[in-house]
Amino acid sequence: MKPKLTEEYVHVSSVDWQPFPEQFSEGGIRWKLLHVSPEVGAWTAIFDCPQGSSFARHIHVGPGEYLLTKGRMEVRGGDEGGGATAHALGYGYEACNARHDRTYFPEASEFYMTFLGPLQFIDEAETPLAVVGWEQAQALWDAQTKG
Ligand code: ZN
Repeated sequence: MKPKLTEEYVHVSSVDWQPFPEQFSEGGIRWKLLHVSPEVGAWTAIFDCPQGSSFARHIHVGPGEYLLTKGRMEVRGGDEGGGATAHALGYGYEACNARHDRTYFPEASEFYMTFLGPLQFIDEAETPLAVVGWEQAQALWDAQTKG
């Protein structure tokens, strides 16, 4: 039989921020990987997003849930573009296959998110550029923190 998975605890403020790759973001976004769940294909992270920063165009291959703990986040164009503008403290659910052309932070923001599946970064024609699932997220985090 397989062993039961062990519980985990992370004291978030004791973990150093790492730069989120410029291939996937601009404006100095930083992150902390908090958990990966290979059996579910999920990964959980917290992101620090300076004023004016954004994430590159991507599709959520699986659904995701976030909690915006600070600031403001424009998702799917924000309120004015037919999407949502989240204000702290704000919770959001993004459905499987949600396409985010530019997730933008008009002010310094921070959010926690669990991704139930990978992110697929794409170009405008939806051609895949890169996939970031729990394995890639963990490999990136290990490279950044165990070097
Ligand atoms: Zn997104």
